Amino acid sequence: MSLLVVGSVAFDAIETPFGRVERTVGGAATYFSLAASFFTRVNLVGVVGDDFTAEHTAVFRGRSVDLAGLERAEGKTFFWSGKYHDNLNDRTTLATDLNVFAEFRPKLPESFRKSQYIFLANIDPTLQRSVLDQVAGKPKLVALDTMNYWIEGTPDELKKTLKQTQVLMINDSETRQLSDEHNLLRAARAIFKMGPKTLVIKRGEHGAMMVHGDSVFCVPAYPLDEIHDPTGAGDSFAGGFMGYLASAGKINANSLRLAMVYGSVLGSFAVERFGLDRLLKLKRREITDRVRHFHKLTTFKL
Ligand code: AMP
Repeated sequence: MSLLVVGSVAFDAIETPFGRVERTVGGAATYFSLAASFFTRVNLVGVVGDDFTAEHTAVFRGRSVDLAGLERAEGKTFFWSGKYHDNLNDRTTLATDLNVFAEFRPKLPESFRKSQYIFLANIDPTLQRSVLDQVAGKPKLVALDTMNYWIEGTPDELKKTLKQTQVLMINDSETRQLSDEHNLLRAARAIFKMGPKTLVIKRGEHGAMMVHGDSVFCVPAYPLDEIHDPTGAGDSFAGGFMGYLASAGKINANSLRLAMVYGSVLGSFAVERFGLDRLLKLKRREITDRVRHFHKLTTFKL
C-alpha cells in the first residue's frame, strides 16, 4: 500500500547534554520516511535548496523512498536548530529558518496521486489541505501532525484541514491547547467533533496514548539505557505507526494498537543516537525483536 508524506526535509543543528552537531540532515518528512520505509514504499513530498547535495540525499539511498516529489529550489534548505535541557524533555528552539520552505507549494507527481495512506507532517495547514486536494479519490487514512504555532496562528485553516483527517497525532500540551480542555479524555471528545476519529497523544518519556471512539490504549516509552538526542522521536513514531498500518492494509481496533507499538519502537530507536544515525543503521530484525520485547514488557496475567 502506498504511503505519502508531506513535510520538512531539513538541516538541523542539535545540542543535547551528550554532544552537539552543527549541520545534519533532518526534518519531519525525513525521520518519517526512514522509519516508515521498513514497512512499505514511501512517497515523499517536500523541498530542498541547492545546498542539499547528492551526499545528503544519500540518507534515502537503498530504501523504499520515492523522491519524485522532492522538489529542488534555488536557495537554502530549511534549517532548524534546537538545544535540549538536562532532563531531555524540554528543548529550546534556537532557529527556524524557512528558506526555500517559505515559498513551498506542494505538487504531487502523477504517480503519487493514488496514495492510500497519507501523513501530513507539521506544516502550514493550508499546504496540508492542498496535498489532500491533489489526491485522487478518497484515501484510506489521513493522519496529521501540527504544533502550537498553527493552533494559535491559523486556527480556522487548521480546523478546515482537520475535517478531512481521521487520525490526529500531537503531544499533550497541543491536545490541551487545541481542545481547551485539560483532561485528555475530555480533550479527545472535543477533538472528535472537529473531524478526527482517532487521537494519538505523544507524551515523550511517558509513552503515547490513543483514544479511538470509547476505547483508550496506552503504550509506554520503550525503556532505554541511553538517550542521546530526542529530535525526530515524534516523526519516527508517526513513521512506524503509519508504515505498519499501510503494510497491514486493514484498519481496525487491533491494527491500530499494533501501530502504536510499532510507533513507540521506531521512536525509541530514533533517540538512541544523534540525528538520523540510529535509523540509518537499523535492521528490520531489530524492530521485530524490540516489538517482541515490548510485548513481554506490557503483558500480565489476571
Ligand atoms: P520533532 O523532534 O519530532 O519535533 O521533529 C524535529 C524535526 O522537525 C527536526 O528535524 C526539524 O528539522 C523539523 N522541524 C522543526 N521545526 C519545524 C517546523 N516549524 N516546521 C517543519 N519542520 C520542523
